[in-house]
Amino acid sequence: MTGPLALLGGRPAVTATGPHFTWPPLDDTSHTKVAAQLEEAISLPGRSGIVAQLEDALQEYFGVRHAVTTSSGTAALHAVYWAAGIQPGDEVIVPAWTFHATASPLFHLRAVPVLCETRPDGNIDPNRVEELITPRTRAVMVTHLWGRPADMTGIQTVASTHDLIVLEDGSHAHGAGLNGRKVGTFGLASAFSLNGPKPLSGGEGGFVLTDDDETYYRVIAFAHYNKRAKSEIPGGHPLARYAVTGAGLKLRIHPLAAAIAHDQLGRLDGYLAGRAVVARHLTDRLAGVPGLEVTAMPEGVVPSWYGLTLTYRPGELGGLPIGRFHQALIAEGATEFDRPGSTCPLHRLPLYQQPGPLFPGHPRTHHRYGPGDFPVAEHAHTHVIKLPVWHRVRDLGLAEQYVAAAVKVSDRHEELR
Ligand SMILES: *Cc1c(COP(=O)(O)O)cnc(C)c1O
Repeated sequence: MTGPLALLGGRPAVTATGPHFTWPPLDDTSHTKVAAQLEEAISLPGRSGIVAQLEDALQEYFGVRHAVTTSSGTAALHAVYWAAGIQPGDEVIVPAWTFHATASPLFHLRAVPVLCETRPDGNIDPNRVEELITPRTRAVMVTHLWGRPADMTGIQTVASTHDLIVLEDGSHAHGAGLNGRKVGTFGLASAFSLNGPKPLSGGEGGFVLTDDDETYYRVIAFAHYNKRAKSEIPGGHPLARYAVTGAGLKLRIHPLAAAIAHDQLGRLDGYLAGRAVVARHLTDRLAGVPGLEVTAMPEGVVPSWYGLTLTYRPGELGGLPIGRFHQALIAEGATEFDRPGSTCPLHRLPLYQQPGPLFPGHPRTHHRYGPGDFPVAEHAHTHVIKLPVWHRVRDLGLAEQYVAAAVKVSDRHEELR
């Protein structure tokens, strides 16, 4: 019925013309808002205008006391670590598999990222945290990988037992929730990216959330010297006298990026609801396709569906290597099926094996990492195939073509040997 595989000269299963997925969705309203911002102000040194509107809207959306925008998610993470008081030689436990920026700012603080094994879904395994704790451990940073909330109950339990600070990287998971609570609100502070493909996007940018006033003042001092520091850090506060310089960095969001993010935030819940429908369809249709295992979503887990992850099971397809399977999917025109490259287990990256050349004198309080150190994370990374999740019901037809491509390659896998 399906005909030969496209990789072997047959007709592709996906007939829709590309690109099949673009993000963020920008319409006439978005264009109008950005054009208006271009007229109003393209530099905002204070907490005013679109920056204040975006921060107010984020505070309301997440139900937190403070939201502070930054130039990127990486900058937000750097600010969060500094604001949380991470000092030279301190150790911070981070998931072994995440985008490196979750942890890399720690090198600039001369602190030590301590990698923690993950669960098969890629999220940090709370049961593997305790064995990593030393007298120098200060905090645990959690990523909600591909938008699926991590086990925050487990993390909070181990953190409170050992008096560790909990921090979150919500960069994949804007609007995701766990048992009725939004991710980014579980710890002392959280950092989010507003970069291009992220569920909430301003093109570039980021933000920090916290309910803690002290952490908020410190984020301001770190990321927003002079005007904002003067107006937002109270007069009698020990940091107030540093307001002109802050800590020496300026990590402001661009007002045009803030305008895009503000426009998108008003639509975020609509995007998430649409993605949930498409994700359910994809999950239902792909469950039971030999060679692919869908990821279960337990009760109470509400993902952002930044990515729908499938675990490749070569044993069900005569040992066909994942690279060959993926290549066949791409040939079918299902070009959005992705094997993550740069978002890989961190111990595979030179910065995490040998920080010395980039950070001379970096404390050697933890062993160097090498292949095989985190078998669960490594297996998850080398066996994952992921899809972006469309948010419009009218894209169900396209999603169905992707299903057809996966079914076809699975059915005809013997031809690929
Ligand atoms: C994108 C991303 C970051 C970095 O954000 P930028 O805005 O690109 O600096 C950090 N952590 C995770 C998990 C990300 O996906």
